[in-house]
Amino acid sequence: MKEYQQLINGKYVNSQSGEWIEVENPFTGKIVSRVPKGDNRDAETALQAAKGAQDAWVARTASDRASYLKKMAEVIRKNRIELAQILVAEQAKVLPLAQVEVDFTADYFDYYAGWARIYEGEIINSDRPNENIFLFRKPIGVVVGICPWNFPFFVMARKVAPSLLTGCTIVLKPSSLTPNTTLAFAKMIDGIGLPDGVVNFVTGGGKTMGKYLVESPLTDMVTLTGSVEAGQEIITSSAKNVTKVSLELGGKAPAIVFEDADLDIAVKSIVASRVIFSGQVCNCAERVYVHKNVLDKFLEKFTAAMQEVTYGDPLAKHTPDMSSQIDKNQLDKIDAMVVKAKEEGAQVLTGGKKADTPSGYFYEPTVLAGCTQDMEIVRKEVFGPVIPVLTFSEYDEAIALANDCEYGLTSSIFTKNINTALKAVKDLKFGETYVNRENFEAMQGFHAGWRKSGIGGADGKHGLMEYLQTHVAYIQF
Ligand code: NAD
Repeated sequence: MKEYQQLINGKYVNSQSGEWIEVENPFTGKIVSRVPKGDNRDAETALQAAKGAQDAWVARTASDRASYLKKMAEVIRKNRIELAQILVAEQAKVLPLAQVEVDFTADYFDYYAGWARIYEGEIINSDRPNENIFLFRKPIGVVVGICPWNFPFFVMARKVAPSLLTGCTIVLKPSSLTPNTTLAFAKMIDGIGLPDGVVNFVTGGGKTMGKYLVESPLTDMVTLTGSVEAGQEIITSSAKNVTKVSLELGGKAPAIVFEDADLDIAVKSIVASRVIFSGQVCNCAERVYVHKNVLDKFLEKFTAAMQEVTYGDPLAKHTPDMSSQIDKNQLDKIDAMVVKAKEEGAQVLTGGKKADTPSGYFYEPTVLAGCTQDMEIVRKEVFGPVIPVLTFSEYDEAIALANDCEYGLTSSIFTKNINTALKAVKDLKFGETYVNRENFEAMQGFHAGWRKSGIGGADGKHGLMEYLQTHVAYIQF
């Protein structure tokens, strides 16, 4: 069994508690590693290190800081196969998708390195003669990054890259379910010359160590990717020191299929958006609204396509579309929601139950017809390959149903009419809308949820701004 260590102040350390967290491979059920079960003392040491390193880090030029991001990208590319295998083993992501995540993560470090010579301040006209108003953009300081289990490697980069580029230092805590890729990477960057304390990787519980990190007066910003519940707890914990939060939380993305849609494109895109990583993605298509005149045809094609979705060993030579859910807890949650939907009148067109497999926590790709807006399966996030289908008659009805949701992360529409597309983009109240394609964001975009899906966001220019604060100087001459 592999053993990983935390990276705190440039040193690879076990927890001061001496305790460990065991990490299970969800497909095989075997324990693949153990990582330190960090406690408040580890969190404090890491925060002190990040605080201590910040002044010297920000004193460097942005292009100098960017050179470390480029080295991180190089390290990832050099170890791309090993990292993808570690990712597969800790979370049962199918190997090609794990490889995409690893390669995308390397590109992400390079992408933000490119911002070193791009982000800038402003000079503002003064009302006084002989005065300049300079607006500087300065790093927020010590960032606490808290990651989920679904894209543990990429989300690590989503927090580390903009932190370092802007001159922030960071303490990052991966999910206890998937800490291996982050800690393996921590070891791989030994030797790139990063000053001690600039990046610290700690492992421990969310409600214990995570809470301590958020509540600390040393923390200047918290960036969480995770559930709405964790976001709510972090808002409460961060109130103590009025600490800035950036929250990327859950979603319940609607997909609207208008009467004139190309049904083959719609079916292909919605299936892809639903089953990617076994349905465990925040921006997955999660509920479909189909125009009544094409409902039967859509259901026929969509059900057939979901029946063709394959699942199995994430390392199989003929890669399945999906593998195991992350753990038994998640599998039981999905099943309970489907059982409830059936009791409420949903009709199972395919799937509808746990899959009978020799190992792993598999759920059958599931299509539920006859669903209504008030059902839990239509209103709450389902982290699994399950999709409820509803119908509509008029454009306004479809938009109203899609917008009637506590989450506001992503959405998608399918139509051949440019006017319908542009109107829907205007009327939908979500952070992202995909037109005639699957849900998957770009690093140069801006991934930000409305309503309970979050505060602030990540990626691109606007994601970088999250890590900067303004300082305005009025200079009379
Ligand atoms: P989670 O909320 O259970 O855990 C996320 C992280 O928060 C973990 O590291 C956990 O230890 C920590 N945490 C939990 N409670 C905390 C607290 N009180 N204080 C500090 N830290 C705490 O989420 P998860 O199950 O790991 O991930 C799945 C969720 O993440 C889904 O809801 C999904 O939609 C969401 N997600 C959102 C995005 C996005 O970009 N919007 C991306 C990926 C995942």
